[in-house]
Amino acid sequence: MAWRCSGRTNAELISNLYKAQLITAERVRASMTSVDRAHYAPAAAYEDSPQPIGYSATISAPHMHASACQSLLLFMPENKGAKVLDIGSGSGYLTHVMANLVCGSEGKGEGKVVGIDHIPQLTELALSNMRKSEEGRRLLDNGRVEFVTGDGRKGYAEGGPYDAIHVGAAAAEIHDKLIDQLRAPGRMFIPVEDEDGRGSMFGSQYIWVVDKDADGKVTRKRDMGVRYVLLTDAPK
Ligand code: SAH
Repeated sequence: MAWRCSGRTNAELISNLYKAQLITAERVRASMTSVDRAHYAPAAAYEDSPQPIGYSATISAPHMHASACQSLLLFMPENKGAKVLDIGSGSGYLTHVMANLVCGSEGKGEGKVVGIDHIPQLTELALSNMRKSEEGRRLLDNGRVEFVTGDGRKGYAEGGPYDAIHVGAAAAEIHDKLIDQLRAPGRMFIPVEDEDGRGSMFGSQYIWVVDKDADGKVTRKRDMGVRYVLLTDAPK
């Protein structure tokens, strides 16, 4: 059904996702409207489907980006200094959308998003994609968005603790280091390979929502079934 939400323009795509109730939060609608997906997806930018961006990576489908933002939304208040980590930042699209959520669409509020990817050409790509818009350049120039190259399974402790962690590739497990880097309270949205299907090409994956409460108590909840590229070792 998701493909029905595709549009001819960015505004039409987001409006169709809203009508189909794949976007339900007004702040998510505003943030996704203010980032032109064509700056991040080389082809079929306004289709509600994943698209290849090179290096075996894909920009996820818009409805998945919406769903991740909505899950993390309470932990990404605007202009409250929230810190966010985007693991497997790929094209940089979601990093930009989440920066709009925490800093406001003009990029002037307090807040910080770090995007991490293990392929240096992709962190470069994310930077150049974000530089295509004035708002993107402002977020980079004022340090509210930063892209780093590294193994996302270890997180990025230097920038933490994080109010919200988004993982954009399927993990073999819910890595303890990532939970350690969550603030109390904080939330992580992470696709995880199901134990039964581990290692097989068609193994199943589920989104897990990991919450750390104000006392530091951690709970994990399995959510919907998904299909993401795997969180792997960097290619040699
Ligand atoms: N959120 C991105 C998704 C990109 S696909 C987007 O919508 O554009 C998943 C990304 O995870 C790829 O860019 C891939 O290079 C990255 N990745 C895979 N394993 C990784 C690891 N161990 N550390 C960091 N990034 C990783």
